[in-house]
Amino acid sequence: MSPLFPALASASAKPALRFGDQILSYDALRRTAGDLGRRLGGHRRVAVWATPTGETAVAAVAALLAGVALVPVNPKIGASELAHIIGDSAPSLVLAPVGAALPEPLAALPRLDVDAGADPGAAADAGDAGDGIEAESAALIVYTSGTTGPPKGVVLSRRALATTLDALADAWEWTEADVVVHGLPLFHVHGLVLGVLGPLRRGGTVHHLGRFSPEGVADALVGDGTMLFGVPTMYHRLAEAGGSDERLAAALAGARLLVSGSAPLPLPDHERILAFTGRRVIERYGMTETLMNTSVRADGPPATGTVGVPLPGVDVRLVDDAGAELTASDGETVGEIQVRGPNLFTEYLNRPDATAEAFDGGWFRTGDMATRDPAGSYRIVGRKSTDIIKSGGYKIGAGEIENVLLTHPGVAEAAVTAAPDPDLGERIIAWIVPRDAGSGPSPQELTDHVAGQLATHKRPREVRFLTALPRNDMGKVLKRELT
Ligand code: ATP
Ligand code: MG
Repeated sequence: MSPLFPALASASAKPALRFGDQILSYDALRRTAGDLGRRLGGHRRVAVWATPTGETAVAAVAALLAGVALVPVNPKIGASELAHIIGDSAPSLVLAPVGAALPEPLAALPRLDVDAGADPGAAADAGDAGDGIEAESAALIVYTSGTTGPPKGVVLSRRALATTLDALADAWEWTEADVVVHGLPLFHVHGLVLGVLGPLRRGGTVHHLGRFSPEGVADALVGDGTMLFGVPTMYHRLAEAGGSDERLAAALAGARLLVSGSAPLPLPDHERILAFTGRRVIERYGMTETLMNTSVRADGPPATGTVGVPLPGVDVRLVDDAGAELTASDGETVGEIQVRGPNLFTEYLNRPDATAEAFDGGWFRTGDMATRDPAGSYRIVGRKSTDIIKSGGYKIGAGEIENVLLTHPGVAEAAVTAAPDPDLGERIIAWIVPRDAGSGPSPQELTDHVAGQLATHKRPREVRFLTALPRNDMGKVLKRELT
């Protein structure tokens, strides 16, 4: 296959990676990753202790140049999940930043230290920069976020990576002039594939904030940043801060593209950011298994509240419970999203049963429910397993109720779940984090607020208050813990 990173061949002085104060040019990246890649020879699968640093980015490029499958590991992972991932993926080596202390069982593996700042000099060259490696070979094994169950190892080929990044380039008019700003973790697809490999494939620049903060975002976008990638919890913080921070508001207004994904961005956050920047955050929809499926396009009409249209090369369809395709584009008919295309994963590692189960013919069952409007834009209603509530003969999407609860001035965070109910089948429960812990709104006030805006069957039957919602490292709400 042709090289994943054509810009590495030109070996220019242009910045490829910027992590805090550390900057690596394409020239330096070619030597540093080329040198590391050569030392991976003989290995089939290696892990990387994926700290949000240049070392992780260099390790990823090195593995891709060498044609060795890389397993990114969350450095904040719990002991049992780590044991599961290492036992399942069985890497023969671990890459880690110099000085990083590794827990068992990683500590027992042979280790290669990575130092993104130590340029091995002109003698170390990436050669043909990864040309000629088989397109279907495993490039990354990424574990899913574990939102609905134990994380599954997803085998991603070079073909899938290249396809999805090129489709996004088309949708976002993404070029070598773009500097992508983000503070995402580097052990999931969002931060690693879109946020690091994406800019490098375009020949542009990655600007990683190390740690996300509204001030860091403002600094980077006032500087050379052109695109911002974030998860909804980050845009929520920007929405909270931007109303009273003119510098941040101006920085966001000046970005070429503000992109959100990994979970639904609540409408009130969309609206607040629009109000103080005049700009719309665009959403894209993807999964570890499928990489990216749909996006609002940079050149398309505003489609706030939707995840846009299928990316080039991706087939998307909605099916009913019986698996029959739904052809309506009425913005109302809800079905499960199924996708097909060269962006899809190869298999779940060691799980032929789960892999087979995940497909309906050649179509991947996403487990996400959506509608399609006359413009062809998809609106995600929620996950089939946790967000579709069957109550009193109705199918109700939790997200719609969450969006309404979030418009109440006393509500900071909201999640809606279902509990079994003898009369209704399922009963709607609202979980609320009040803005002011001492004097939050009463349950009655909140249920009246919902009843004032939605049909009566969508009114929560019960309201429970919390100090914070349980979330994973991507900021996704863990609804299975809300019981
Ligand atoms: P697990 O599969 O382990 O339960 P997960 O599904 O959260 O975890 P990921 O593959 O990281 O793991 O996330 C993909 C899911 O994230 C999608 O299936 C979808 O539910 C959600 N998602 C991604 N982007 C969006 C978006 N823009 N709007 C709404 N949901 C989104
Ligand atoms: Mg999933």
